[in-house]
Amino acid sequence: MNYKHLCLVNLFIGIIAAFGLGVMVGSLANTPTTAEPSISMPASPTPEPTPTATLEPTPTVTFVPRPSPVPDPRPREIWVSLGEFKLTAYCGCTKCCGKWGINRPLDADGRPMVYTANQSIAVEGLTVAADISLLPYGTVLYIDGHKYVVQDCGSAIKGKKLDIYFEHHSDAWAFGVKHREVYIIKRIITQRSTNDERA
Ligand SMILES: [Zn+2]
Repeated sequence: MNYKHLCLVNLFIGIIAAFGLGVMVGSLANTPTTAEPSISMPASPTPEPTPTATLEPTPTVTFVPRPSPVPDPRPREIWVSLGEFKLTAYCGCTKCCGKWGINRPLDADGRPMVYTANQSIAVEGLTVAADISLLPYGTVLYIDGHKYVVQDCGSAIKGKKLDIYFEHHSDAWAFGVKHREVYIIKRIITQRSTNDERA
Protein backbone atom coordinates (compact mmCIF):
# COMPACT_ATOMS: atom_id res chain seq x y z
CA MET A 1 0.00 0.00 0.00
CA ASN A 2 1.53 3.19 -1.00
CA TYR A 3 1.19 6.63 0.51
CA LYS A 4 -1.60 7.60 -1.84
CA HIS A 5 -3.70 4.73 -0.60
CA LEU A 6 -3.07 5.63 3.01
CA CYS A 7 -4.22 9.11 2.37
CA LEU A 8 -7.42 7.90 0.76
CA VAL A 9 -8.03 5.53 3.65
CA ASN A 10 -7.39 8.26 6.18
CA LEU A 11 -9.65 10.56 4.28
CA PHE A 12 -12.29 7.93 4.16
CA ILE A 13 -11.96 7.27 7.86
CA GLY A 14 -12.08 10.93 8.48
CA ILE A 15 -15.25 11.30 6.53
CA ILE A 16 -16.79 8.37 8.35
CA ALA A 17 -15.69 9.80 11.64
CA ALA A 18 -16.91 13.18 10.78
CA PHE A 19 -20.19 11.79 9.68
CA GLY A 20 -20.46 9.70 12.78
CA LEU A 21 -19.67 12.64 14.96
CA GLY A 22 -22.25 14.64 13.15
CA VAL A 23 -24.85 11.98 13.63
CA MET A 24 -23.93 11.72 17.28
CA VAL A 25 -24.10 15.41 17.78
CA GLY A 26 -27.32 15.55 15.89
CA SER A 27 -28.78 12.72 17.89
CA LEU A 28 -27.66 14.42 21.02
CA ALA A 29 -29.28 17.57 19.92
CA ASN A 30 -32.43 15.73 19.13
CA THR A 31 -32.42 13.86 22.37
CA PRO A 32 -35.45 15.06 24.04
CA THR A 33 -34.43 17.00 26.98
CA THR A 34 -35.82 16.22 30.27
CA ALA A 35 -39.01 17.81 31.19
CA GLU A 36 -38.63 21.45 30.86
CA PRO A 37 -38.97 23.24 34.08
CA SER A 38 -42.54 24.17 33.98
CA ILE A 39 -42.69 27.84 33.95
CA SER A 40 -45.42 28.66 36.25
CA MET A 41 -47.09 31.42 34.43
CA PRO A 42 -48.83 33.75 36.68
CA ALA A 43 -52.23 32.31 36.69
CA SER A 44 -54.42 34.59 34.83
CA PRO A 45 -56.70 35.94 37.41
CA THR A 46 -59.86 33.97 37.19
CA PRO A 47 -62.42 36.48 36.27
CA GLU A 48 -64.61 37.37 39.08
CA PRO A 49 -67.82 35.61 38.47
CA THR A 50 -70.06 38.14 36.97
CA PRO A 51 -72.61 38.72 39.58
CA THR A 52 -75.53 37.35 37.79
CA ALA A 53 -78.42 39.33 38.94
CA THR A 54 -80.46 36.74 40.67
CA LEU A 55 -83.94 37.97 40.23
CA GLU A 56 -86.25 37.18 42.99
CA PRO A 57 -88.56 34.57 41.68
CA THR A 58 -91.66 36.37 40.71
CA PRO A 59 -94.32 35.10 43.01
CA THR A 60 -96.76 33.56 40.71
CA VAL A 61 -100.08 34.84 41.77
CA THR A 62 -102.47 32.05 41.39
CA PHE A 63 -106.02 33.10 41.51
CA VAL A 64 -107.78 30.33 43.22
CA PRO A 65 -111.31 30.59 42.05
CA ARG A 66 -113.05 30.91 45.30
CA PRO A 67 -116.65 29.91 45.04
CA SER A 68 -118.30 33.23 45.36
CA PRO A 69 -121.39 32.96 47.40
CA VAL A 70 -124.01 32.44 44.81
CA PRO A 71 -127.39 33.68 45.79
CA ASP A 72 -129.77 30.86 45.92
CA PRO A 73 -131.94 31.10 42.84
CA ARG A 74 -134.82 30.08 45.02
CA PRO A 75 -134.82 32.55 47.85
CA ARG A 76 -136.54 31.26 50.85
CA GLU A 77 -139.69 33.17 51.54
CA ILE A 78 -140.96 33.57 54.99
CA TRP A 79 -144.21 35.12 56.03
CA VAL A 80 -143.87 37.83 58.59
CA SER A 81 -146.94 38.96 60.45
CA LEU A 82 -147.32 42.67 60.99
CA GLY A 83 -150.10 42.08 63.44
CA GLU A 84 -153.74 42.88 63.22
CA PHE A 85 -154.79 45.89 61.18
CA LYS A 86 -158.01 47.79 60.95
CA LEU A 87 -159.27 47.57 57.39
CA THR A 88 -161.57 50.03 55.71
CA ALA A 89 -162.41 50.52 52.05
CA TYR A 90 -162.74 53.38 49.63
CA CYS A 91 -163.37 54.15 46.01
CA GLY A 92 -162.57 57.17 43.87
CA CYS A 93 -165.75 59.10 44.54
CA THR A 94 -166.04 62.39 46.32
CA LYS A 95 -167.63 60.68 49.33
CA CYS A 96 -164.50 58.64 49.80
CA CYS A 97 -161.89 61.04 48.47
CA GLY A 98 -163.40 64.46 48.93
CA LYS A 99 -162.01 67.01 46.52
CA TRP A 100 -159.69 64.41 45.06
CA GLY A 101 -162.73 62.65 43.66
CA ILE A 102 -163.73 65.60 41.49
CA ASN A 103 -163.13 65.47 37.75
CA ARG A 104 -161.40 62.14 37.57
CA PRO A 105 -160.01 61.50 34.12
CA LEU A 106 -161.87 58.81 32.26
CA ASP A 107 -160.41 55.75 30.63
CA ALA A 108 -161.36 54.44 27.18
CA ASP A 109 -164.45 52.84 28.65
CA GLY A 110 -165.59 56.06 30.31
CA ARG A 111 -164.70 54.90 33.79
CA PRO A 112 -162.92 57.31 36.10
CA MET A 113 -159.23 56.62 36.52
CA VAL A 114 -158.17 56.95 40.08
CA TYR A 115 -154.60 58.03 40.40
CA THR A 116 -153.14 57.14 43.70
CA ALA A 117 -150.70 59.13 45.75
CA ASN A 118 -147.76 57.44 44.07
CA GLN A 119 -149.23 58.07 40.61
CA SER A 120 -150.40 54.54 40.05
CA ILE A 121 -153.81 53.87 38.61
CA ALA A 122 -155.79 52.24 41.38
CA VAL A 123 -156.80 48.68 40.68
CA GLU A 124 -159.47 46.88 42.66
CA GLY A 125 -158.08 43.85 44.40
CA LEU A 126 -154.56 45.26 44.36
CA THR A 127 -154.42 48.86 45.53
CA VAL A 128 -154.30 49.61 49.20
CA ALA A 129 -153.63 52.81 51.07
CA ALA A 130 -151.39 52.61 54.10
CA ASP A 131 -149.31 54.68 56.45
CA ILE A 132 -146.32 54.97 54.19
CA SER A 133 -144.08 55.90 57.08
CA LEU A 134 -144.57 52.29 58.14
CA LEU A 135 -145.27 50.64 54.82
CA PRO A 136 -143.71 52.51 51.90
CA TYR A 137 -145.16 52.54 48.42
CA GLY A 138 -144.68 49.25 46.72
CA THR A 139 -144.88 47.20 49.87
CA VAL A 140 -146.62 43.96 49.14
CA LEU A 141 -149.08 42.88 51.77
CA TYR A 142 -151.05 39.72 52.19
CA ILE A 143 -154.48 39.78 53.75
CA ASP A 144 -156.40 36.54 53.93
CA GLY A 145 -153.87 35.14 51.46
CA HIS A 146 -154.65 37.86 48.92
CA LYS A 147 -151.91 40.10 47.60
CA TYR A 148 -152.15 43.87 47.83
CA VAL A 149 -149.68 46.61 47.06
CA VAL A 150 -149.33 49.85 48.95
CA GLN A 151 -150.00 52.53 46.34
CA ASP A 152 -151.90 55.17 48.22
CA CYS A 153 -152.07 57.01 51.47
CA GLY A 154 -154.66 58.95 53.39
CA SER A 155 -154.79 61.47 56.17
CA ALA A 156 -156.82 59.06 58.28
CA ILE A 157 -154.69 56.04 57.47
CA LYS A 158 -152.10 56.04 60.23
CA GLY A 159 -150.52 53.22 62.08
CA LYS A 160 -152.10 49.82 61.79
CA LYS A 161 -154.80 50.87 59.38
CA LEU A 162 -155.32 50.01 55.75
CA ASP A 163 -157.78 51.38 53.22
CA ILE A 164 -158.60 48.97 50.46
CA TYR A 165 -159.55 50.31 47.07
CA PHE A 166 -162.77 49.27 45.33
CA GLU A 167 -163.94 50.46 41.99
CA HIS A 168 -167.51 51.01 43.12
CA HIS A 169 -168.61 52.86 46.15
CA SER A 170 -171.23 50.25 46.93
CA ASP A 171 -168.56 47.59 47.25
CA ALA A 172 -166.44 49.79 49.46
CA TRP A 173 -169.42 50.52 51.63
CA ALA A 174 -170.29 46.80 51.81
CA PHE A 175 -166.78 46.01 52.92
CA GLY A 176 -167.28 48.02 56.05
CA VAL A 177 -164.63 47.70 58.70
CA LYS A 178 -162.69 44.55 59.34
CA HIS A 179 -159.76 43.48 61.44
CA ARG A 180 -157.33 41.16 59.83
CA GLU A 181 -153.82 39.98 60.39
CA VAL A 182 -151.55 41.41 57.72
CA TYR A 183 -148.46 39.70 56.41
CA ILE A 184 -145.51 40.62 54.33
CA ILE A 185 -143.23 38.17 52.64
CA LYS A 186 -139.55 38.42 53.30
CA ARG A 187 -137.23 36.76 50.88
CA ILE A 188 -134.26 35.26 52.58
CA ILE A 189 -131.34 35.16 50.19
CA THR A 190 -129.46 32.14 51.28
CA GLN A 191 -126.06 31.23 49.98
CA ARG A 192 -125.16 27.89 48.57
CA SER A 193 -121.93 27.76 50.47
CA THR A 194 -123.70 27.81 53.73
CA ASN A 195 -126.06 25.34 55.15
CA ASP A 196 -129.36 26.83 54.37
CA GLU A 197 -132.53 25.59 55.76
CA ARG A 198 -134.39 24.83 52.62
CA ALA A 199 -135.25 21.36 53.74
ZN1 LIG B 1 -166.62 55.97 47.27
